[in-house]
Amino acid sequence: MSGAGSLPVAPRDDLALVEGYHSPQVDVEVRLNTNEAPLPPPAGFVDALADEVRSIAFNRYPDRAARELCAALAELHGVRAEQIFAANGSNEVIQCLLLAFGGPGRAAAVFEPTYLLHTHIAKITGTEVLTGRRSEDLSLDLAEFERINSAHRPAVTFICSPNNPTGRSESREVIEAVAARAAGLVVVDEAYGQFAHWSALPLVSDEGRVVVVRTFSKTWSMAANRLGYVVAPAGVVSVLEDVALPYHLDAIKQAAGRVALRFRAEMEARIAGVVEERGRIAARLSELDVQTWPSDANFILLRPLHRGAKEVWSGLVERSVLVRDCSEWPGLEGCLRVTVGTPEENGRFLTALTEVLD
Ligand code: PMP
Repeated sequence: MSGAGSLPVAPRDDLALVEGYHSPQVDVEVRLNTNEAPLPPPAGFVDALADEVRSIAFNRYPDRAARELCAALAELHGVRAEQIFAANGSNEVIQCLLLAFGGPGRAAAVFEPTYLLHTHIAKITGTEVLTGRRSEDLSLDLAEFERINSAHRPAVTFICSPNNPTGRSESREVIEAVAARAAGLVVVDEAYGQFAHWSALPLVSDEGRVVVVRTFSKTWSMAANRLGYVVAPAGVVSVLEDVALPYHLDAIKQAAGRVALRFRAEMEARIAGVVEERGRIAARLSELDVQTWPSDANFILLRPLHRGAKEVWSGLVERSVLVRDCSEWPGLEGCLRVTVGTPEENGRFLTALTEVLD
């Protein structure tokens, strides 16, 4: 850790093992590196939110349990409001899950390559990380899960589905098999769930061990607003409320979440647009000298076959297109990840990539 020597007191020893998490930003015209929604929220959203903001009692603390927001989310998913916990982005949901169910003396299982923040947040919360490998085709390997689960009995098992950065989702059978055997909580991270062909939401029940994490950052075009939630057994939600800071979700954010849910039809149209564009990009990539994997998310993983990933990444930046360099992630040697953008942005990416590979 930089500058630790000049601190009045040393930070926790175990933080020395935590590496920072950064997605380098470069000033380019086409930013396809962080899996955000390509479009701003629908035109009426900001006006409707402004109206709501005017009626906020700013001198008062917000509704601590975000009841109206949770009720609206419960209606969206056909569950009970007591089964929803919302926080500042799904990353904070994950942090609360680990504060409550992980921590010193406990372990969380992750299957790499996967979303790096599961490991990162686990370490910050003092949770031991058990790292399993995925199969050759980047799907979850049930034998590997079984090996870790039976040997170490993790308190939390993370399954990112669709998985970031590989794009594939696990089947219902696989998640059910994990849920049937897992020693602890099974956290299905569905940050990209709306782009997928199925969701694990129906597997959540008060008696079960599956929780499903979702976010407003992708489909709902609200990455700037930082809002995520988990659908979970009511007992789990009640523990999460205990570990979250009082009034962690401010009134403007609660209003933004409620207002966004009024624009469901527009959001569904956008999802359909992204899925269509994903198909177009995948079709073109299949004609180029790259390996790709099927994606159920709003991004595609690709590996240039006869060019180094870094060389291709730089060539794209020279053409003002930024993608994510995943080539140093474990198991993803030579890989890049491109977010599905607007049709114009995707066109720019495909043209630039074609030029770079030529
Ligand atoms: N889970 C996954 C798999 C993600 O890719 C992301 C965003 N990169 C998140 C969670 C966090 O999303 P947010 O905190 O913006 O809700």
